[in-house]
Amino acid sequence: DHLFKLVIIGNSGVGKSSLLLRFSDDQFNESYLTTIGVDFRFRTLPIDQKQVKLQIWDTAGQERFRTITSAYYKGADGIVMVYDVTSENSFQDIDKFWISEVESYAEKNVELLLIGNKSDLEKQVSTQTAQEYAKSKNMEFFECSAKTSDSVQQAFLTLARKLMNK
Ligand code: GDP
Ligand code: MG
Repeated sequence: DHLFKLVIIGNSGVGKSSLLLRFSDDQFNESYLTTIGVDFRFRTLPIDQKQVKLQIWDTAGQERFRTITSAYYKGADGIVMVYDVTSENSFQDIDKFWISEVESYAEKNVELLLIGNKSDLEKQVSTQTAQEYAKSKNMEFFECSAKTSDSVQQAFLTLARKLMNK
């Protein structure tokens, strides 16, 4: 049996909960999905004739929930870092804030995935800039849309495969 814990992080509004809803239930909701504290969902995927179960944790990014930080990262095998391709600020915060949080709280050998979400909208962050950044941090990188479902499966599948092949 193969069970992996993944956690999703990134600024509020980038589409973390929407990506999780798309990946776990193949649904999308136009309204903001309120996440209170921590929530998680499961999805089982077949990879190389094996059933891989992903337990994916989602949280609200607000300061008032920061007390759960260390518990949230505990035992995480993979981290999904999300920015919004229409928000330069959300991309800069990956390096200014989220990476250092990961370095402080996550296991050293955790696998990282960077997602530029909302690829259905006009981009403010260039693909090349994000790609080079991801490479420098040894992260897989995908531009996705939780709305159209573009690349969502591929992104999570790539991370799951990396965990299986460890
Ligand atoms: P979170 O705070 O990171 O969990 O963000 P949400 O998942 O709640 O999404 C914030 C807002 O962005 C909601 O209104 C979503 O409908 C919208 N949204 C999320 N993903 C996409 C996407 O891929 N494309 C577009 N156009 N909107 C999205
Ligand atoms: Mg949310």
